[in-house]
Amino acid sequence: MIQYHVYPGGKKRIVTFSYDDGHENDARLIELFNKYQVKGTFHLNGGAASEEEIIKRRARYQGHEISCHTVTHGWPARMPYQSILSETMENRRLLEEIAQYPVVGMSYPSGSYNEEVKTAMKMCGIVYSRTTKNTGNFQLPEDFLEWHPSCHHRNALELCDSFLEKLDSQWVGPLFYIWGHSHEFRTEQDWQMMETLLQKLAGNEKIWYATNFEIYRYMMAQKALLITADEKRFYNPTSMNVWVEKDKKEIICIPAGGTICL
Ligand SMILES: [Zn+2]
Repeated sequence: MIQYHVYPGGKKRIVTFSYDDGHENDARLIELFNKYQVKGTFHLNGGAASEEEIIKRRARYQGHEISCHTVTHGWPARMPYQSILSETMENRRLLEEIAQYPVVGMSYPSGSYNEEVKTAMKMCGIVYSRTTKNTGNFQLPEDFLEWHPSCHHRNALELCDSFLEKLDSQWVGPLFYIWGHSHEFRTEQDWQMMETLLQKLAGNEKIWYATNFEIYRYMMAQKALLITADEKRFYNPTSMNVWVEKDKKEIICIPAGGTICL
């Protein structure tokens, strides 16, 4: 019996951060993320920018993920398809110029989405999109176009303790997903709260620290594995190493593009 609940390096827990709106406080937040070696995804607005601005943002978000948040931050669920499409594709064009890789993630501006918005996301090549519905748990998304976070950063310290207490439990989900806006850090106390959170969460060998897209990509790679009926041969057609658990005990790494036989 094979189970997917193993992440890079054979780890069983994941932490990710997701920040919206591209405020200048992102620079200080990224300094903190780098100090504690955690990864963030930054959902940025805009549809056109000067060369100078593009270069500045490219440097600011280096090592973290750049992701969509539409051009002008309206309510997608109140828009005709044509506006959702142009708001998303123009945003992608700018962000891809900054990031220099495919920008296929999103967080819904104003947390606004419905079935039509999700259809429009697929048409725009968006593969995941975060909502603003806090679950208070650690479940992986059932639908990546409705990716509900665990909590906003203002509630993260309390949830952090229960995440850390249950690091080895099979009965809770693996993913602690924290979201917010860096412009909500107004006082030194606010920043201190974030640093306390990072001190608790960082540097744990049981946790994979990943961007939103890295989580999506890894889970898709797991699902792409081809496994014989006797569960002794594994073929990994993707370009990344993938881990699975066999018979509730053995953790197996199937190397990128490789086959293993047990
Ligand atoms: Zn926003």
